[in-house]
Parts: sequence; structure tokens; C-alpha cells
Amino acid sequence: MEKQKTAVIVGVSSQDGSYLAELLLEKGYKVVGSIRRSTAMVHENIEHLKGKIILEAADLIDQESLNRVMIKYQPDEVYNIAAQSVPGDAWSHPFYTGEVTALGPVRVFEAVRHFAPHAKVYQATSREILGGVKGVDRANESTPLFANNPYGIAKAYAHMMINCYRESYGMFVCGGILFNHESPRRSLHFVTRKISMGVACIKLGIQNPPVNELGEPMVDAQGRIHLGDLNAMRDWGYSKDYVEAMWLMLQQEKPKDYVIGTDTNYSIKDACKAAFDHVGMNWEDHVMSNERLLRPTEITDMRGDYSLAKKELGWEPKVFMKELMEIMVDADIEWLKSHNVK
Ligand code: NDP
Repeated sequence: MEKQKTAVIVGVSSQDGSYLAELLLEKGYKVVGSIRRSTAMVHENIEHLKGKIILEAADLIDQESLNRVMIKYQPDEVYNIAAQSVPGDAWSHPFYTGEVTALGPVRVFEAVRHFAPHAKVYQATSREILGGVKGVDRANESTPLFANNPYGIAKAYAHMMINCYRESYGMFVCGGILFNHESPRRSLHFVTRKISMGVACIKLGIQNPPVNELGEPMVDAQGRIHLGDLNAMRDWGYSKDYVEAMWLMLQQEKPKDYVIGTDTNYSIKDACKAAFDHVGMNWEDHVMSNERLLRPTEITDMRGDYSLAKKELGWEPKVFMKELMEIMVDADIEWLKSHNVK
């Protein structure tokens, strides 16, 4: 009988970490998930997994905590999903973003190098490392790095370290250059979830909606959702599809970086239309662009050309923007009802 594999997911409470944990459990792994220590210890995305996975406290700014996990579990695979992951917050917290999102992965690589050197490592890279590239419609693994915001620059540093650890120490480290991916577990800081939660609140006539990252109700007193640049374009896929690509990368003989996207591009307006259409309402009556939510620099329009992943991993996206928005709106309607939000 084959020995049970052990995987460590750093940042298991994240959208991706929680779906990845489910996938690895299905595949028979022993799953160790790291969470940041907190007093509340409430992690909505993984409440249903408690008892099925092992939880350990570790922080990307605490080398010792990462070392301890590697020493204790000697994992076969390590997935670093954790980051200060909100590009919008990176302008107001550039130092913290650098500490966590740029240096944090290097701490994971060091912990593996010293204490679990046989482990294969996945690092969550982002399409934001290509943020400002001009004149490229479809990005692939050869597109030159050109990050243009503090989050993207932090991710670009970590991305370059992947190759450094491969070349310098012969480590098996893969970078997933992932385009935007969403789900009902996406945090309320992100535009797709602002739309889906806003639509759900408006549809149900909620009087006390959840609050956004500015601490303001997600739907204002006039029944409007506040967003940034409505013309910004994104390649949106489904988180549940994307975690399969992460796992596949670590099943290969050689470590490599892969672009993961849907090769489609839609505007924020398109996403609003898909979500409001789903509940039979007109998006233009309920959405406004709020200057305070504009990014100081936007990323350029680009689609994720996933042909290498298709060829070598046999991976393809299954869910595209319209269906994704419908899944999210339905889930938020259910969430509001089950949490008795009025
Ligand atoms: P989330 O925003 O859902 O989660 C981020 C995770 O990082 C949370 O588990 C959070 O813990 C954890 N975290 C934050 N700071 C620290 C720290 N100092 N130490 C340890 N853990 C920490 O992420 P997603 O699932 O959306 O994304 C997963 C990864 O992929 C991230 O690295 C993100 O930057 C990257 N990415 C995401 C894309 C997307 O569209 N979703 C696109 C491309 C890349 P806590 O629960 O305690 O806050």
C-alpha cells in the first residue's frame, strides 16, 4: 500500500487554502493547515474542516513558527497560499505587504530547505507581477515581469526567489502565476464579492448589510453598491478549479511556473450585469463608481494564456465569469438567510 502523503497548507483559512484542503483530503492526504494565531479563532472558510485537518499556528513573519511545522510533520508537499493578499490595501500598508507577501514566502522556502528538504513547494504567485506590461493581450510564462503596485512588486520578489531556490539549492518549487479567481469564499474586500453580496442584499431588501473594508455598509441607504473603476478588465476564474492546478504542478517530475487563467477578459460592468441579470434586476440602477475606491495605478488588460498548463498538466478551467457570478450571488443569498441578516 502506498504511504499516505502529508501536505502543509500555509494559510489554510484563505479562499484557496480551504478548497485545496478539501481536494487533498479527497485524495487521501494528511492535511496540516497553518493559521495565524488569533484570540477569536473563527475561520469561516474552514469551520466545516475542523476535525478533518490538523491546525497549527504559524505566521509568515515568524520564521520559528514555520520551522516548527516542517520539523514536526516532515511534509511531502508544502503549499504557501498565505499573503497580505489585498492589492488595494498594499498602498496603505506597503511595509507590511513587503514583510508578509515578499519575505514571507522566503521564510517558507528556508523552513523547507533546512527542515524538510525533500518537500515539493507551491508558491502562490499572481498575475499582478505583470501588472503594468503594455501591448500584451495574452500573458504566458515568458511575459516579462512588470509589477506596478506594492502588492505586485512584493509578489514579484517572491516569484524571483522561486527560481533562485530552484537554481541555488536544487529545490522543487513551483510558482502558480494565477489570474483572478473567485468563489463564495472570497473575502468581502474584493470586487466580485462586493458585487455578489451587494446584489444579494438588494434582492432580499436587507436593511443592515455587512460592511466593506472602509467600514461602510456594502449597500448604501440609496440601495447602491460602491465600486472603483467600472471599466477595469479582469480574467476571472473559479478558485475550486484553480486549486487543482496547484496540486497538478506538484505531481510533475520537474518544477516549473505555470500561468493559470481562463483566457477571457471582462469588465467590472460585465460582472455587475451578469450578477444583477441573475436576479432579474438592472445593474445600472444600483452600481456607482466611488473615487475613493480607485487604485492609484491600474493594471493593464490581459488574459491568462494557460496553454502550457493544458499541455503539461492537462488542466483547463471549467467555470467562466457569468456562471461564477451566478454561483456567488446564489451563495450570498443563502448566506444572508442562514445568518438571519435582516
Ligand atoms: P485570501 O485573501 O482568501 O487569504 C489570505 C490568507 O493569508 C489568509 O489565510 C490569511 O490568514 C493569510 N495570511 C495573511 N497574513 C498572514 C501572515 N502574516 N502569516 C500567515 N498567514 C497570513 O487569499 P486567496 O485565497 O484569495 O489567495 C490565495 C493566494 O493566492 C494569496 O497568496 C494571494 O495573494 C494569491 N493570489 C490570489 C488571487 C485571487 O484572485 N484570489 C490571484 C493571484 C494570486 P487570515 O485568515 O488569518 O487572515
